[in-house]
Amino acid sequence: MHIRVFKFGGASINSAGGIINVASILKRFPDMPLLVVVSAMGKTTNALESVLEHYLNRDPVAVIEAFGKVRDYHFGIVNNLFADKDHPVYGELDSLFNQLRGYIRKGHLYSGMGHERDFEYDQVVSYGELFSTAIVHHWLAGQGIPVRLFDVRELIRTDSTYRDARVNWKVTEPRISSAISSYFGTSPVPGKIALTQGFLGCDQEGNTTTLGREGSDFSAAIFAFSLHAKEMTIWKDVPGVMNADPKLMPDAVCLETLSYREAVELTYYGASVIHPKTIKPLENANIVLRVKSFLDPDQPGTIVKNVREWKIATPIFIVKQNQVLISVSSRDFSFILEENLSDIFSILANFRVKVNIMQNSAISFSFCIDNDPHKVTPLISYLGKDYETRYNDGLELYTIRHYTDEAINRITRGRKILMELRSRNTCQVVTG
Ligand code: ASP
Ligand code: MG
Repeated sequence: MHIRVFKFGGASINSAGGIINVASILKRFPDMPLLVVVSAMGKTTNALESVLEHYLNRDPVAVIEAFGKVRDYHFGIVNNLFADKDHPVYGELDSLFNQLRGYIRKGHLYSGMGHERDFEYDQVVSYGELFSTAIVHHWLAGQGIPVRLFDVRELIRTDSTYRDARVNWKVTEPRISSAISSYFGTSPVPGKIALTQGFLGCDQEGNTTTLGREGSDFSAAIFAFSLHAKEMTIWKDVPGVMNADPKLMPDAVCLETLSYREAVELTYYGASVIHPKTIKPLENANIVLRVKSFLDPDQPGTIVKNVREWKIATPIFIVKQNQVLISVSSRDFSFILEENLSDIFSILANFRVKVNIMQNSAISFSFCIDNDPHKVTPLISYLGKDYETRYNDGLELYTIRHYTDEAINRITRGRKILMELRSRNTCQVVTG
């Protein structure tokens, strides 16, 4: 059976009009069954993060206000979509909000740090996807589309690394394949839709987990892989994968074709258009990935597939902002050798920081990381115990794939360069 997998992110369903548009896109693909993954609406995940933050700060007034905002936003959309106030969507949404309110009221939330905090994060923030799928489900059904809502927590099994859960493929794959295939049946109704939540999973104890911010792309890839889908499409508010962020470079163009390998490299260097974990399962099962615009579905977008002989003519720019460059050197001018490097790397791993670029010289080792103040300040003071440590913040890291001199000039002109690395295909520059 050929199946398509679609993923719609928060921006595509941030209003009543957005949801109506999604339904009209789905109606354009009546030839095969569709598995549709959706994220939370608009910026709901951020909004739920602030509900949690206020709770942890023990500020009940702010909690109620933040919770009220999320609730009003969703009911505002529902009011615009469903004129009949007795429609079951109202009761369903109400009961989800009551569940969340009850969870917070009962004081389940632990005000500590570390593991417990991550656990509570997943229990609270996951509601964003439960709200959105309830609404989208009712809207599609009301449009006469044959649709069933699947609770993804019954399908995707993960470990208990809350906020960054790892998929247990052995349990997940057969569950998805049997639940979805039996719904679609052997002679599937054309245009039949299985709808489910992105971003979420469930651990062995039955607790909700999340796969990491922006993880819905990865959720869709898990379904595509498990269902041997023919192709998967991520619907975005940009025409496809661009060679630069159009907000920063107005002359950015859409890339027609990318190899899986190039796509993995781009996500590794920080291209936010596709979640980094998405490509691997697709590549493993040779599933074509399309990135298309939900604002202009007639445009071809970008296609990511297995292309062997592939040369790209357009330089691709990726920028990571708010970087901090840290340099560690020995106090007594002795060389930074393998033992020191392995010591430094194990410190970095313990602080769970990801190094974006690094360079070493005889007596120093320098690296750039995202400036997350919760991590950077304690990391610098920890490193300072054994090493002379200096840092520079407020920096930008540019990666240029398939660089040309002109492309590098465009980035570096008039800026101070703090570090530069070049390999055959990639140039990285840290600028101040
Ligand atoms: N709603 C989640 C987030 O905003 C997951 C996603 O959108 O992919 O991070
Ligand atoms: Mg999103």
